[in-house]
Amino acid sequence: MQYNWSRHLRLIIAFLIVCTVAGAFFGYPIYGLTAGLIGYLWWTLVQAKRLYHWLGNPGGTSEAPQSVGLWGDIFDSLHKLHQNHLHLQDRLRARINRVQESTNAMRDGVIMTDANGTMEWWNGSAEYLLGFRRNTDRGQYIHNLIRTPAFKAYFDARDYRESLEIHSPAKPHIRLQIQISLFGDDDRLIVAKDVTRLYQLEQMRRDFVGNVSHEMRTPLTVISGYLETLVDNADELPPKWRRAVNTMAQQSSRMEALITDLILLSKIETGEQTVNDTVTDVEALIRQICHDASALSGDKQHEFSVNITDHRLLKGDESQLRSAFSNLVFNAVKYTPAKGHITVTWSANREGAHLSVRDTGIGIDPVHIPRLTERFYRADPSRHKETGGTGLGLAIVKHVLLNHDGNLEIRSRIGDGSEFICHLPRERLVERAPEKVS
Ligand code: ADP
Repeated sequence: MQYNWSRHLRLIIAFLIVCTVAGAFFGYPIYGLTAGLIGYLWWTLVQAKRLYHWLGNPGGTSEAPQSVGLWGDIFDSLHKLHQNHLHLQDRLRARINRVQESTNAMRDGVIMTDANGTMEWWNGSAEYLLGFRRNTDRGQYIHNLIRTPAFKAYFDARDYRESLEIHSPAKPHIRLQIQISLFGDDDRLIVAKDVTRLYQLEQMRRDFVGNVSHEMRTPLTVISGYLETLVDNADELPPKWRRAVNTMAQQSSRMEALITDLILLSKIETGEQTVNDTVTDVEALIRQICHDASALSGDKQHEFSVNITDHRLLKGDESQLRSAFSNLVFNAVKYTPAKGHITVTWSANREGAHLSVRDTGIGIDPVHIPRLTERFYRADPSRHKETGGTGLGLAIVKHVLLNHDGNLEIRSRIGDGSEFICHLPRERLVERAPEKVS
């Protein structure tokens, strides 16, 4: 709109001149001017009142009031602004409806909360999967509805690179994978995916491996027993059988080690519950493992250094921690040439507790490092016959640490030795009870 301010001004001045001339006609030009000014003021007040009423309730009548002159222009401009605003609102409403319809059609639960976890919006699948109620749960604190401690820890940690798996609070038979994203003003978008089927398959796989290993253990023990007897009495065997019996005995003890590790791994995978019930004296554990490792080292005469700078206890399952730590120390023995140096360090800082096992051994090509904790993955397959490993050691370490909310870091370069570091959360460290003086 073209605003013509000088035209309006000219009209007002012309009106006042006409009033003054009319007043002069009756001999009172000043009264004429005053009457004109009062008339203009009154008209302005009437228009302002109409505007005031309309602004108080612009949605009531879609049309802005009509007028002429300056007020006519003002009303026209406001009417246009109001219309544009209504169009924009309609377009936004349509877009929001579309987004809500599409997220409602999703099979995954979608929830929006603010930074504190106050529930703002969720879709139909979230109602089904998590049991939220449309009428009563808006404005509720999400931690009152999903009470799993792991969920609260995940929500508060603000590190959402990995997802979290929990059972649905409303339907415990449903397994959910939760992924949180940050958006807007520190708000949270929570996506809950139903992974029950995958979870069941994974459990079936674990049970199958565990059961098969158990079933194989007994016949294998019998075979190994007989083979050992044959090896002990090798002198009585015909010479052509001796080599065969020796090889059979070696392979059956390898199979026994493999089955022991498989059973251990499937126990660890399902043994999450025990880790919070006991405390472990890590210092004593490390000293004992290093003692066993120097016996394993035997003729290779490795040099061991043990540095323990934190003497607190660790909340965790002793037998699981023993398996994990001993796998790392025994690996250092296996993969370090004779007279090499093995350093075991147990320390704690603000980030947590750390067990480092460093060796001066053959090292690992960095391309293999991301896959080393996979079952049966070997950096150098040609070497595993010499070392007699099962290929499950680091998988066991990874699962033990997962059970204890920790993780494994591997630093290594070919020919430069390796360092395996177990990081455990600080919250797991507990003070020793003061010793009683008798
Ligand atoms: P294995 O029974 O073969 O030792 P692990 O799972 O314990 O199985 O280790 C996987 C692979 O990681 C090993 O085959 C080896 O190639 C490599 N590895 C583990 N520890 C070390 C180490 N201290 N130095 C060099 N390589 C290692």
